Amino acid sequence: MPKIIFFNIPAHGHVNPSIPLVKELVRRGERVIYYCTETYRAKIESTGAEFRSYGAEYDFAPGQDAVTPFRAMSLILEAGEGVIAKVIDPVRAEKPDYILYDSMCVWGKQIAHIIGVAAVCSCSIFLVHSKNLRDVPLDTRFQLQMTMGLPTLLASLWRYSRIALRLKRKYGVSSPFFANFFANPGDMTLVYTSRYFQAGADKFDDSFKFVGPLIAPRNDPHDPQTSEVFAVFETSEVLKKPLLYISLGTLFNERVDFFRACIEAFNDDRYNVIMSIGNKIDPVALGVIPSNFIVRPHVPQLEILQHADLFITHGGMNSVSEGCWYGVPMIVLPQVGDQVVIAGRIAQLGAAEKLTDITPRAIRALAEKVLGDSNYKIQSEKIGQTLREAGGVVKAVDEIRDFVKGIYLT
Ligand code: UDP
Repeated sequence: MPKIIFFNIPAHGHVNPSIPLVKELVRRGERVIYYCTETYRAKIESTGAEFRSYGAEYDFAPGQDAVTPFRAMSLILEAGEGVIAKVIDPVRAEKPDYILYDSMCVWGKQIAHIIGVAAVCSCSIFLVHSKNLRDVPLDTRFQLQMTMGLPTLLASLWRYSRIALRLKRKYGVSSPFFANFFANPGDMTLVYTSRYFQAGADKFDDSFKFVGPLIAPRNDPHDPQTSEVFAVFETSEVLKKPLLYISLGTLFNERVDFFRACIEAFNDDRYNVIMSIGNKIDPVALGVIPSNFIVRPHVPQLEILQHADLFITHGGMNSVSEGCWYGVPMIVLPQVGDQVVIAGRIAQLGAAEKLTDITPRAIRALAEKVLGDSNYKIQSEKIGQTLREAGGVVKAVDEIRDFVKGIYLT
């Protein structure tokens, strides 16, 4: 029975797509040991994998300072240095056949190199890499974010280089070149999107497998209010009006100004609105919630999207893929670098509009524009079709097994 060690970062957007993958690996007889943090234990154990914790010190929620990509890179590399020191001996003792790692989990690939086994990358974001930088729809805001604040930029680069040097000296491993940090490909890389949706997909060789998003029903332990939200769907009055679903995801969602503007924009009887506000802001700060709104820290997004007419989203890779999967047109308000790229791409393909003016009037006007033009929905469905045709979890596991067979036979 092959033994795999999976390394992931503690974030829903990265753990969620791995769940169907690991479940399928286990179903086909592979033994999976999965490293993450306690918050994700139940979800991970539900796959049949053996859960291992990095320890409470790695149960981080990235602060707003991680918004600057170079700062985020140095923070992740530093976290990885600590993780490697902590897990390298137990991991070596397990003698895994290969390592699976989320692309943001820089230490996963480094550990594979240290112990001398193959590294398979699980990439749940768009590929942004030196190979396709010219194809990626970067906008000025993103470029500014990359370079803004020269002292922070220089401090982050300095810090990154020092940690990279320490890792090289201690373990003989390299750290990724900046432009490739978030894609961080492995010996083989599973990319959870379609060739059609990925900008510049033709720049990547055969070691990149575009298998589409791994969307499967999930039993989310952070969702105690699921039944409450579902009860609302059962009332026929709700189903008659357009349903708007609003979420800024689970990481960079501290936007009281935006949520308040949405409340003001749709505070009438024409729409029903479900708004997921995350667990970082106090709902009291949003003032009185109108009766046509349901506001919760976390909601069953996949189920809601099956009923939604419009999705106002931060443009997280999972959220946008899930939106297209169910053919929902979108309005995108990106919060950090990769979301800017995704927002650019989804707008480029005609399935969404980008929101730039966070006022109730502008939000309402854009919502009416997108709802009033069926082309947005048609384009969202078209992307969704390519995502489904990419093969999903069965294809992903087939690819892993072919790859592993290939390396151990040669
Ligand atoms: N999600 C959810 N309920 C919520 C908010 C988010 O189930 O109320 C899920 C969503 O379906 C997606 C993930 O959390 O799978 C968010 O990932 P994404 O990449 O969109 O954004 P991130 O949270 O990583 O910024």
